[in-house]
Amino acid sequence: MTAGVEAAPVASPTEETRPRGVVVTGAAQGLGRAIAQGFAEAGAAVVGVDLSDAVAPLGTGHDAVVGDAGDAAVLGRAVARAAELGGGLATFVANAGVTSPGETVGYPLSEWDRLLDVNLRAAFVGAQVVRQALGPGGSIVMVSSICAVQGFAARASYCASKAGIEGLVRSLAVEWGADGIRVNAVAPGTVATDMQRAMMASGRASAQRYLDRIPMDRFGEPSEIADAVVYLASPRASYVTGVVLPVDGGWAVGGLPARA
Ligand code: NAP
Repeated sequence: MTAGVEAAPVASPTEETRPRGVVVTGAAQGLGRAIAQGFAEAGAAVVGVDLSDAVAPLGTGHDAVVGDAGDAAVLGRAVARAAELGGGLATFVANAGVTSPGETVGYPLSEWDRLLDVNLRAAFVGAQVVRQALGPGGSIVMVSSICAVQGFAARASYCASKAGIEGLVRSLAVEWGADGIRVNAVAPGTVATDMQRAMMASGRASAQRYLDRIPMDRFGEPSEIADAVVYLASPRASYVTGVVLPVDGGWAVGGLPARA
């Protein structure tokens, strides 16, 4: 150890006492469902939250809550259940999100409010609700997007919401770091979920235009996003906080592609 630098007195749980409870919002389908499955495979007790009643327990030892991820009472129920099933809450994943493309002039402010409510406000409410249930070693992972740091025409509300998520992650990481609670994000590129299929069906994006932009020349799989989230929440990332991990096949660093 460097002379004069003391280790922080934050007690970490052992393997035996480590809580296993995980809450994932937007868990009925798409990335949220894959993230929930990823945690279950890693031995967690997972409670999925979703507006859709298609959200279902992943099996024995898991549960699901139907409701709005922006509702503190819904999240409170999910956290209590995850703590009960998993011997405490280990991780909260703020994944629920919506998109609503449209040119800025004439864009309904009601849509702006709805999108910001789901994509950003709900993540903040979630952080408020889960804070007391998280102990040293606990973590929050938020789902951002490549849209947080790059401009996309006719997606101002979505891009702004994801830029907000990344500011939230950095602020919470600093606010709660000394308590041993880590806060990180993943920034997925293009993954063929219902959200992305709807975007392509709208004519505002196409598979080929996306592929032209992705150095790895393919879409991501939901499980590849899940793997990154599970890693960030795990003890293997015990000194990682306040970061946004791109999981995008190289989109964020893409300049000119290899092919002509
Ligand atoms: P998705 O397939 O549309 O799934 C989103 C899920 O969230 C749906 O089950 C939806 O339920 C639920 N949901 C929406 N609003 C909710 C609310 N207020 N409370 C609870 N649940 C709610 O979307 P996805 O592609 O998996 O996206 C998941 C996250 O990844 C989002 O934050 C998105 O912005 C982000 N992301 C996705 C991509 C991609 O390429 N797919 C890329 C970058 C980032 P309903 O169907 O009932 O509305």
